Amino acid sequence: MAEQKKARELILTHGTNSPLDIANERNIVVLFEDLGKQIWGYYSHTNRIPVIHINNRLSQELAIYTGAHELGHAVLHSGINTPFLRKNTLFSVDKIERQAHRLAVHLLIGHNSPEPYETKKQFLIRCGIPEIFHIYY
Ligand SMILES: [Zn+2]
Repeated sequence: MAEQKKARELILTHGTNSPLDIANERNIVVLFEDLGKQIWGYYSHTNRIPVIHINNRLSQELAIYTGAHELGHAVLHSGINTPFLRKNTLFSVDKIERQAHRLAVHLLIGHNSPEPYETKKQFLIRCGIPEIFHIYY
């Protein structure tokens, strides 16, 4: 899967799987802003400045996931306008949305692998992936 490969490349290049650290190293600005109750985050590249916007109302887990998703857009879809990640469209059938979700999941998994005693759900939660996104694994 292309997104899994891209996630591995990012981790190898930057020596971390932290989406916020990778964004910093790639000179992508990360802004925490109040985006209201519906929007979790979005990616913009106005005046060629790439910016990941994350709603500062989110829990830490959702904020990091959102950062990983928007980083996915920054590396996979840098030249196109990508939609807001919204509460009511988290399961968009949009191809670029699914690609960003898959990259996010594989980035957050990083070098972790499931332990024999773990279920898939336990493993993905240990990696910091909110349960609602486990379908992208
Ligand atoms: Zn998106």
